[in-house]
Amino acid sequence: MDNVITVEHLHKRYGDAVAIEDVSFEVRRGEIFGILGPNGAGKSTTVECLQGLRSATRGRLAVLGLDPGREAARLRRRIGSQLQSSALPERLRVGEAIRLFARLHQQQVDVDATLAEWGLQALRRKAYATLSGGQQQRVFLALALLGRPEVVFLDELTTGLDPTARRETWQLVRRVRDRGATVVLVTHLMEEAEALCDRIAVIDRGRVVAADTPGALTALRGGPVRITFSVNGYDPRGLSSLAGVESVSIDAGRVTVTGSASSAVDVAAALAAQGIAPPDYRTHYPSLEDVFLALTGHRLTLTEGSPR
Ligand code: ADP
Repeated sequence: MDNVITVEHLHKRYGDAVAIEDVSFEVRRGEIFGILGPNGAGKSTTVECLQGLRSATRGRLAVLGLDPGREAARLRRRIGSQLQSSALPERLRVGEAIRLFARLHQQQVDVDATLAEWGLQALRRKAYATLSGGQQQRVFLALALLGRPEVVFLDELTTGLDPTARRETWQLVRRVRDRGATVVLVTHLMEEAEALCDRIAVIDRGRVVAADTPGALTALRGGPVRITFSVNGYDPRGLSSLAGVESVSIDAGRVTVTGSASSAVDVAAALAAQGIAPPDYRTHYPSLEDVFLALTGHRLTLTEGSPR
């Protein structure tokens, strides 16, 4: 496996406060790797250490074969990172921002081609502060990609965007990956991790609690699939003999069956074989939120300022 990032037992303190207890994971070339966890879990600190912006208290880090602590300058030429929204002067125009950052990268950049590539032509003369949230993120992605980085770090890229702009931004992140860059994406949104990431490290209170593909995490750790439907004059208890079915219960004509993912298909087939087609038949698959709850005992969607 071609790893571009290796994190082994990262530990980070700010004075007496422990921000990261013990974090280990690997990122493979060409994937979108998600770091998912609630606010305060240690996600940003982790990626800041990986970019050489903060020094680890303990642990071994390698990014593209370099040590971010000792070789930050060499590393920075090969990685791209998303700016914080306060980083650009409000009156800087989009075209000027591209030109300015191209100069910082000491690269010949075709400004027109870059604007066209990111759908920014019409915004070229617009001041940064007048752009919508989604447009600003598009500028950030264009700037992060200017130096043709091998690894791109994106931290809470879609925070504050409406659902439509968020989905458009996800599409752009996929495009970044499809152009060959490896993407490390920090998010506290399980929906974003589920939709976008090839693999995820779930972080809570400074520790990795699980790392895998979203599908494997939900299948292995998310608990059973739940099937619900309503019927009259049918005894559903026979369904409990189907392979993978764990429980069958009925309450006021409403049936709930729990079991493995494959049992959902078998339950539907068994009903159909008896000519029963409940119009409210639903299958509820576990989400990353369920995985998080099962692993940590608390919900992912903690609000800012909640106790750690
Ligand atoms: P996340 O990105 O998951 O929200 P952070 O990495 O920002 O988490 O923060 C992890 C912990 O470290 C939090 O308790 C936060 O308050 C603390 N922390 C972050 N930056 C600093 C800092 N510069 N000084 C002291 N504590 C910090």
